[in-house]
Amino acid sequence: MTATLHASCHCGRVHIDIPADAAGVLACHCGDCHKMHGNFNAFLAAPRADLMVRGEEALVWYQSSEASRRAFCGTCGARVVKELTTAGRWLVSAGLIDGPTGKRILKNLWAQSKPDWYSLPEVSE
Ligand SMILES: [Zn+2]
Ligand SMILES: [Zn+2]
Repeated sequence: MTATLHASCHCGRVHIDIPADAAGVLACHCGDCHKMHGNFNAFLAAPRADLMVRGEEALVWYQSSEASRRAFCGTCGARVVKELTTAGRWLVSAGLIDGPTGKRILKNLWAQSKPDWYSLPEVSE
């Protein structure tokens, strides 16, 4: 049995079980992530089919670009996921994971778009 990480939104309506070998943590510093998360977006990435989602009906979707849409919890507003629509991948916000993850930030994406008010987080292999 593969180890599983458990993610949940602030109000507890949405729960996602993520395989512990999901890619990440990845940190995206693009303008879209900043506008929607209020800061950079740290996430784990996995095929949608590998995730076990409960409370999916609580998610409110927003088409944030041609190739992706993002969802927040309609009750508490937690930013839950970015979906890469054609790839069928979900990028689940790392902040929703409960308890220790055993993971570190592996990569900074769109580092050149970062605003000037913070330094890039340290990455580890
Ligand atoms: Zn919620
Ligand atoms: Zn981004």
